[in-house]
Amino acid sequence: MIEIKNVSKWYGNFQVLTDCSTTINKGEVVVVCGPSGSGKSTLIKTVNALEPFQKGDIVVDRISLADPKTNLPKLRSRVGMVFQHFELFPHLSVTENLTLAQVKVLGRSLDEAKTRGLKMLERVGLTAHKDKFPGQLSGGQQQRVAIARALAMDPIVMLFDEPTSALDPEMVGEVLDVMVQLANEGMTMMCVTHEMGFARKVSHRVIFMDAGRVIEDCKRDEFFGNPDARSPRAKDFLAKIL
Ligand code: ADP
Ligand code: MG
Repeated sequence: MIEIKNVSKWYGNFQVLTDCSTTINKGEVVVVCGPSGSGKSTLIKTVNALEPFQKGDIVVDRISLADPKTNLPKLRSRVGMVFQHFELFPHLSVTENLTLAQVKVLGRSLDEAKTRGLKMLERVGLTAHKDKFPGQLSGGQQQRVAIARALAMDPIVMLFDEPTSALDPEMVGEVLDVMVQLANEGMTMMCVTHEMGFARKVSHRVIFMDAGRVIEDCKRDEFFGNPDARSPRAKDFLAKIL
């Protein structure tokens, strides 16, 4: 589903990604972890073509991002992305937030978009809040709406960048529950997260990044179950969290 091939990226003179490669298969849940500043957000944004890269290629559903002929907005519309800060439109109701991109980007009728949006809202357990504005919801509820909004676009893959990091601790669980449910339903997911409970429970693979490089890319049980076989950096990281 996603092939990241020897991707390097610079911000000016600063090389933020160095020769990053990995493959994410259909239905796979891959957790990306590593210290702050290691390039996790940058890598996940390149997959959605929100950040350009200067070397290598990323192929999403057989479409090459390095190919200048690729219609990036169209591709982006098929890749769901949920950020740390739930970027809902504050002046639009929950239902309007759920329908806007479906109508504007996918060209769906308002009726069709509403039906699809409300179905996704039900999936995250928030049907009762459909007419509220984001400011009337808790952070956890807003993040669940953001997930529903992404799902309403029928994404072929969902990218998460620390979706629970900005939440009060008591709200982390409700968002992780939605992510676990998605994973169990077979959604292809690439998740930057520090929630190692989630990683241990539902991920298939773990990628560990350090200083812009993919240092580890291995099966979940290998990553967590065999820390002595890990690189020194990953071993340090694991020692702190396990
Ligand atoms: P992470 O998500 O792992 O914390 P990031 O991908 O956000 O890491 O950042 C990786 C490195 O790139 C950091 O050193 C950060 O300061 C730098 N960086 C991120 N965004 C930019 C930018 N727009 N311009 C310049 N440097 C950036
Ligand atoms: Mg980040």
